Amino acid sequence: MAIDRYQASARLLDRAKQVLASGVSSEFRKYNHPHAIFYTHGRGSRIYDVDGNEYLDFTLSQGPLIVGHSHPSVLDAIQAYSEQGQLFAGQHLKEIELAEKLCELIPSAQLMRFCLDGSEAVQTAFRVARAKTGRPKFLRFEGHYHGWLDNVAWGISTPSAEALGSREHPQAYPWSGGLSAHSREEFIILPWNDIELVRQTVAQHHAELAAIITEPVMCNNGCIPPEAGFLEGLREICDAYGMALIFDEVITGFRLGLGGAQRYFGITPDLSIFAKAIASGYPISAIVGKREWMEEIETARVIHAGTMNAGNPTVAAALATIQVLEQDPLTYDRMFRLGRKLMNGLQEAAQKADRPLLVQGMGPMFNTAFTSLTRVRDYRDTLSNDKALLNAFIAGLHDRGVRVIGRGLWYISAVHTEEEIDQAIAVATEVLASL
Ligand code: PMP
Repeated sequence: MAIDRYQASARLLDRAKQVLASGVSSEFRKYNHPHAIFYTHGRGSRIYDVDGNEYLDFTLSQGPLIVGHSHPSVLDAIQAYSEQGQLFAGQHLKEIELAEKLCELIPSAQLMRFCLDGSEAVQTAFRVARAKTGRPKFLRFEGHYHGWLDNVAWGISTPSAEALGSREHPQAYPWSGGLSAHSREEFIILPWNDIELVRQTVAQHHAELAAIITEPVMCNNGCIPPEAGFLEGLREICDAYGMALIFDEVITGFRLGLGGAQRYFGITPDLSIFAKAIASGYPISAIVGKREWMEEIETARVIHAGTMNAGNPTVAAALATIQVLEQDPLTYDRMFRLGRKLMNGLQEAAQKADRPLLVQGMGPMFNTAFTSLTRVRDYRDTLSNDKALLNAFIAGLHDRGVRVIGRGLWYISAVHTEEEIDQAIAVATEVLASL
């Protein structure tokens, strides 16, 4: 059945491969089921492919589409503001309005700069932290994804548990060929969620550490909340040694609330990165932070630039997305409630089917893995996931019209309905019974 369902996509993929390296424009798009899929359109919580298949979409395009596909208010705002121009190589009013709004919403935001995507905003944060502290390195954590550029393309995936090395001195396996050897010298890496290990390591290496960067919820390998006291501990350590605490809120930003994970957990970082969900699929990210750190950019001791930054359509998309999310004060309650309902439904369905499914996360985003563990705490724990079983589960859902990110991550949008959650649970129940 699966092959017939995807014939038109398969033909287009063959054609695409002649001119696009492996047929795609981002590595992750290859890992769809049963191969890269070509889509025609998306509306609300649904997306449609060239074979005419309809999917209930829980990928939300890897996170950005928090108000669903083609939200009319977002499209109207983009059209209206783009008619006045697209890019001025200069300033415009809505850019201030967006920055003012983000300052109001995000606890750590006193000054910001707009970029195009999460990867480059992360690099800007490193540059700021290095310039202010005069120290060369940053500390980061296994399994955390901070973009695809050299100094963070290590320790994201590993060929085996052995290749990770010891917890105290991890190996950081390279994710790509062609990484500069120097990029491995830019960071120290540790398992996540172990504050004592961070304390010991920083006590030893603080003279060379400019920053600690973390996803406040580890969303890129599992969907792992911080242990009680972990983020607080990072805050204390950074304060004690004059290091920047950087929250990479590319996923958590707007997903745990409009103030990001920092408002949700009540921990204020020095610098943070927002991208994905802030603009409904338009390319904009923000590095935001406390004035004492961001003044490195303000005074031009640190240079940040970009021809395409903060163009009219992207800024209009961000403002409209925020407006939609703010319109109904119950939006986030609903996303949390529907997410938790789906999590519970999946867990119950797995119990009935006697499958060791672990559903872990926050609600608006959560992860499904096949493991006998009842909780995963760091990247090393996630290696217990039975990937073959997960792939069969994701493929089974996909063949029945439910689209989930291949590594098991689910996103809830503001436009998913109660009935759609029930529908997803019913489909998952059928798939789990068939595995
Ligand atoms: N940080 C995190 C936490 C991410 O999840 C991602 C993207 N998945 C990035 C950074 C990189 O963002 P982008 O793909 O927009 O460059």
